[in-house]
Formats: sequence, structure tokens, C-alpha cells
Amino acid sequence: MIIAVTNQKGGVGKTTTCVNLSSALALMGKRVLLVDMDPQAHSTISIVGDPSQCGKSLYDVLMDKTLNIADVILRSTVPGLDVAISRISMAKLEPSLIAEFDGHYRLKDSLSQIKDDYDYIIIDTPPTLGLITLNALVAATHILIPIQSSYLCLEGTDDLLETIDKVKRIANPSLDIIGVIITLHDKRTNLSKDVVERINQVFGAKVFKTYISKSVKLEESPAYKESIFTFAPDSIGAVQYRKIAEELLKRG
Ligand code: ADP
Ligand code: MG
Repeated sequence: MIIAVTNQKGGVGKTTTCVNLSSALALMGKRVLLVDMDPQAHSTISIVGDPSQCGKSLYDVLMDKTLNIADVILRSTVPGLDVAISRISMAKLEPSLIAEFDGHYRLKDSLSQIKDDYDYIIIDTPPTLGLITLNALVAATHILIPIQSSYLCLEGTDDLLETIDKVKRIANPSLDIIGVIITLHDKRTNLSKDVVERINQVFGAKVFKTYISKSVKLEESPAYKESIFTFAPDSIGAVQYRKIAEELLKRG
């Protein structure tokens, strides 16, 4: 299963979800690859001890078909979790590939070399609907959408759903939304209740039963290059991301 974690809004918890959901699945014994497609490389930096030990990154692999993605896959600090690393050079991908007729298919082609080595491949994406995100949507079997529990959270959802439909029509007919995760939730506020209701109206059964609360521990753990499961194993964030992983396993 290849899951693109996508929402063109920034700061909604894509990277936090990628890191901690991948870690939860790995700790459950699954073989997991986290593919970092964001030029900001926050997934890479959060969970790989020393990414500079690798001279290349995913950008080089996507640009040069003679390279193998295995050359940019490093072990993370979580047993069983590998990371295809990103670097700021990824920001050059869109201008470099825009004129290539197969520009949307580069990630799919690269993953075909190693996809059977993993039970789950999770792709972190940047906050845009540009060519990088399209590569992720073409390569993926499923999409996971984190939505921040806030007033304007559904702004832009139409654009996202339209993009997903376009990718399905043109390149990836079986692409499916595996779920929507409500993130940065603060259950004390009335606004949050209203927001959750609206998200449920739009996405219905796609919404995961577990919501991810706002929690300082989730914010702190990347600085220590740890997932929430070793940084703060008993924290609410650890409990909730483990439950999300369990829900995901039930969904497929
Ligand atoms: P995105 O990848 O969508 O831009 P991030 O996962 O990087 O979003 O989250 C944006 C910021 O919010 C980061 O500083 C992150 O540490 C913080 N954050 C994410 N999820 C939570 C949470 N549940 N509680 C508290 N802070 C969070
Ligand atoms: Mg991110």
C-alpha cells in the first residue's frame, strides 16, 4: 500500500502524521518506507540521524533515471522504518521536470524498483498541488488527508478533491481516499465541535474515529530526532497515533 499524505495547506500536520504514523506501523512489525517529497525535508530531518551521510537525495533519483532509489534510502532512528531522503534541492524538481513528458511519473517509476520490499510506503508532500504532489498522487494507491481542526480548515478542499479527480481520470484510476485525520484538535472549544461536525459532513465515514489533539510533546519530538513513541511513549500523541495506525490497518 502506497499512501500519499496530502493537503495543500501548510501546517496541518502532514509531516507530524507521516513521521508518527510510519513509526507506529514500523513498531507494529510492518516494513515501512517514508518517502520525503517536501523540499523543506522536515520528515527527513525529524527522524534520520545524519542525512548528510548520503551524498544524494530523492531529487537526484527523480532527475536521473540511471540512479536507483535504494541509493537515497537511509535507516531512521525507528527500527523497521526507512526514509527516502529529501533535501532543499527538491525545490528544483518542478522547474526541471516541467518540460518532460513523463514528469508526473518519475516517483512511480522509481518506487517500482523497491515497492515489494515494504508493507507500507508513506509519502510526505509539500503544501502545494504542483508537480511534486502530482508525482505522489500518481505513485500512490491511497491518499490520507490531515485536516487541521480550525475555522478555515475546509477552504481549498474543493481544489484538492478536484486534483484527486483529475489524477484519477488521467493517470491513476484506482486512487482512493483511505481517510481523513482531524489534527491539532482542541476539544475544549466550541469552535472545534463545530469544525469537526463540518468535516464529518463533507467526508462522512472517511474520517478516522481518532482525532489528534494539540500536544506540545508532538511538537518537541522532532528536535530530538525521535518519534513520539520513544520521546513520550505515554503521551496523548503517542496513544492517538497508535490508534490511527490500528484504524489504518483495519482499512486495508
Ligand atoms: P505540515 O507538514 O502540514 O506543514 P507539520 O506536521 O509540520 O505540518 O505541523 C506544523 C507545525 O505544527 C509543526 O511545528 C508541528 O510540530 C506542529 N504540530 C503538528 N501536529 C501537532 C499537534 N498535534 N500538536 C501540536 N503541534 C503540532
Ligand atoms: Mg510538512
